[in-house]
Amino acid sequence: MMLAYMDRAAAAAEPEDAGEPAAAAVAAGCVAATDFGGMVSAMPAAVVRPASADDVASAIRAAARTAGLTVAARGNGHSVAGQAMAEGGLVLDMRSLALSRRSQIQLVVVSATAAGGGARYYADVPGGALWEEVLHWGVKNHGLAPASWTDYLRLTVGGTLSNGGVSGQSFRYGPQVSNVAELEVVTGDGECRVCSLSSHPDLFFAVLGGLGQFGVITRARIPLRKAPQAVRWTRVVYGSFEEYAADAEWLVTRPPEAAFDYVEGFAFVNGDDPVNGWPSVPIPGGARFDPALLPAGAGPVLYCLEVALYQYSDDRPDDDDDKGAAAAVRRMMAPLKYVRGLEFAVEVGYVDFLSRVNRVEEEARRNGSWDAPHPWLNLFVSARDIADFDRTVIKGMLADGIDGPMLIYPMLKSKWDPNTSVALPDSGEIFYLVALLRFCRGGGPAVDELVAQNGAILRACRASGYDHKAYFPSYRGEPEWARHFGDARWKRFVDRKVRYDPLAILAPGQKIFSRAP
Ligand code: FAD
Repeated sequence: MMLAYMDRAAAAAEPEDAGEPAAAAVAAGCVAATDFGGMVSAMPAAVVRPASADDVASAIRAAARTAGLTVAARGNGHSVAGQAMAEGGLVLDMRSLALSRRSQIQLVVVSATAAGGGARYYADVPGGALWEEVLHWGVKNHGLAPASWTDYLRLTVGGTLSNGGVSGQSFRYGPQVSNVAELEVVTGDGECRVCSLSSHPDLFFAVLGGLGQFGVITRARIPLRKAPQAVRWTRVVYGSFEEYAADAEWLVTRPPEAAFDYVEGFAFVNGDDPVNGWPSVPIPGGARFDPALLPAGAGPVLYCLEVALYQYSDDRPDDDDDKGAAAAVRRMMAPLKYVRGLEFAVEVGYVDFLSRVNRVEEEARRNGSWDAPHPWLNLFVSARDIADFDRTVIKGMLADGIDGPMLIYPMLKSKWDPNTSVALPDSGEIFYLVALLRFCRGGGPAVDELVAQNGAILRACRASGYDHKAYFPSYRGEPEWARHFGDARWKRFVDRKVRYDPLAILAPGQKIFSRAP
């Protein structure tokens, strides 16, 4: 039964009892047994390379008929705690769906209706496509692009939609889970369904931020808008968290006509450490950070606010009196309380701007930290508690830096639909993403120590009563997950699991539910 399916789906590997697997199949199995985190490993029985949604459905139906067998969709394996693994189960290599000739990215045009409004444009994207592929396809072929991104684009569409998908655009355009018009999903019973706000809305919302629990996303319809041509990208520095946070929160609550397109920020060490300190701020590379400009009372940690304004081909040129983009940025920055003189700005192409983390990847590959373990911790923390969090965690526990970015920037709850499966802090409209993106270079603390520090941070958050949620949560067993979601959301999550994946076949690496016998 399994073998028949494997043949049809051009499986990369066969179950162990099927004979000697080919070398490539072993390699595929090994890759699927690891992830970017590099801290856990779980060997699947087989890796399946689907070429279509039908192949995905066949794999899930085969698993349903086979006692104990589970199925994990693997996007690009950029999880850090084994979330895309299936020990002894089937791993669906979703990249093969994107690379198949049968499922290419397609432009969908919905013409203007009598009710008004112009034509609307969408990309129909295979679940395993990288956001980078969507960007290049849209800009090059159509001058169009999605509005909402992640910082790093070598992540899959299905992978980020199963979590949230956030970046500096989220405050304005919403996270990626708020930028989807329709999904094609294969649920845990092996049925392929198309869902949207108007058709099977409960499944649509369940899958968005659903941690892969309710179905495999085989296609997503992403709204497109005119792609900007260039971006004015600016960084400024603060000595005080209170001033940084007040300005960042003011910027993310501006009306659209007075808002940047992107607002992010990070904490860094007040010192000359090349990775954690002043040199991590200047853009373009080579610009000089002059610490003499810092206020006398600046503490051990400083803050960098990063903003970007898009420019379109029909905008006035910059030298056109005070109406150009440079002047607009100057006006928008004027009321902010950053340290004057510590401002860094550059104009870059739109694709270059969105591809900025590729340069970080190249450097990390060169110095070996890309392939080393990544004990990352991502949190959403309510604005109510963020100053306290900064004092206790950033300035208290992490004042020497983490050998990687410490992102801390605000976004708005009203841009997230409460019907999705994503868990957010309860209180208030503004909450912060806190991303502790540790890169281990030789000679630093042992990985175990960093994992233990993450645990200590989570305990500190709980002990202090901070209104927070883990983003990319990693818990073990139902009680911990029930606490993560809170009573009402957990009940809805369980109800949805019973409805769409009653045998608990899908995404076992999240360690939420156990496969039904
Ligand atoms: P995987 O890690 O392969 O899968 C993640 C989960 O989704 C698994 O449970 C898997 O089973 C499930 N899944 C995967 N594909 C599908 C599918 N088609 N259908 C259903 N379930 C599926 N995140 C942000 O929000 N913003 C960022 O700026 C950001 N930057 C990052 C930078 C780097 C360098 C890295 C390594 C990660 C970053 N992330 C960011 C995190 C990223 O969003 C997660 O790793 C996410 O899981 C997507 O990665 P992936 O596509 O490789 O999915």
